[in-house]
Amino acid sequence: MATTEPAARPGDERRIIVMMGAPGAGKGTQAERLATALGLPHISTGQLFREALHGDDPLGARVRRYVESGGLVPDEIVVQIVRQRLAQPDAAAGAILDGFPRTVAQAEALDELLARSGTSVCAALYVEVGADMLLERLTGRRICSADDQHVFHVVARPPRTEGVCDLCGAELYQREDDAPETVQSRLDTQLPPMYEVVDHYADAGVLYPVRGDKPAEDVTQDLLHALATIRASV
Ligand SMILES: [Zn+2]
Repeated sequence: MATTEPAARPGDERRIIVMMGAPGAGKGTQAERLATALGLPHISTGQLFREALHGDDPLGARVRRYVESGGLVPDEIVVQIVRQRLAQPDAAAGAILDGFPRTVAQAEALDELLARSGTSVCAALYVEVGADMLLERLTGRRICSADDQHVFHVVARPPRTEGVCDLCGAELYQREDDAPETVQSRLDTQLPPMYEVVDHYADAGVLYPVRGDKPAEDVTQDLLHALATIRASV
C-alpha cells in the first residue's frame, strides 16, 4: 500500500545505534547479532579501515599514510569514513556503529553529522563487564607452539590437558599481547576515553547499560529488550 503519511512517524525514524564496551566485553559479537535481529548494517570501523587500506580512493591513501607511519588516524578522517559509510543505501533505515565514536570529539562530530539530516543517536548500548572478568577473558588465550591456528582459551575453550594442544599434542603458550601486564596497560589507555563517551551519551539521555557477564544469547535479549523500551516510550 502506498503511503501518503508524513515521514516523521516516531516508530519509523532512522535508527543510529552506538555499541559500547571495553575490549573483551563482547561488543563486536553483540553488534553482529543485533544487526541480524534488527535488519540493520553492522558498521565496524575496524573493518572500514581495513577496507580503506586496500581501496584505491584518495581517502584510503590518506588512511594508509597514517597507519604505515604507526600514527593514529585523525578524527577528521575517521568521521569522513563513517559519514561515507552512513550515506550508503543499506544504512537508510539506520545502522549499528561498532568501534566509533571512540572519543568525545568523535561523538560530538557524529552528533553534528546526524543533526544535519535531522536525526540523532537513538541509543548507545553499553555492554558492561567487570574488570576481573575482562582480564580473565583477555588473558586466557593460549596458542599452540606448533601451529598458531590451534587456539584455546583457559575458560572459554580449555584444552583437555592443561598446556597441551588437543589437536597435535604440542605445548601451548601465552602471547606477549595477552600477558596480564600488557592487557592491563592497554585497558588503562583505552578505558578512560570510553568512559567519557559513555558519559556523553548518559548526558544526552540515550545510554542503555546492559550486563555483559552472561551468555551471549542472554546479552542479546537484554539489548533487544532495552531497544524495545525506547520504541515503546517514543
Ligand atoms: Zn596444535
